Amino acid sequence: MSEEQKEPAADPMVRACRYCGQPMSKWLATHNDWGDGMGFCTDIMLVCFNDECPIYVKGWNTLYDKYRKVGSVRHFYNPDDGFQGVLPVGHKDALRGDIVE
Ligand SMILES: [Zn+2]
Repeated sequence: MSEEQKEPAADPMVRACRYCGQPMSKWLATHNDWGDGMGFCTDIMLVCFNDECPIYVKGWNTLYDKYRKVGSVRHFYNPDDGFQGVLPVGHKDALRGDIVE
């Protein structure tokens, strides 16, 4: 019997950032409690930690102009339900401690 070459199933944990196209990192959501009802029903989320990511680069200005708050945002994607959005970060290395790999 000959085995057909099959494309490996797309891994939901492998995803490129929709803003910069860089591969996103697995990030442990459970360590982070936002305390504002924004709970995540998943353990692992994918977050873009690329410092060149346009949404992140632009975020520094947007947050300051809008909220007079210094910080930025990083793009996240929830592989469980496909929900995506942005996570607020206060500085360059915020959230990095919870990167899984
Ligand atoms: Zn990105």
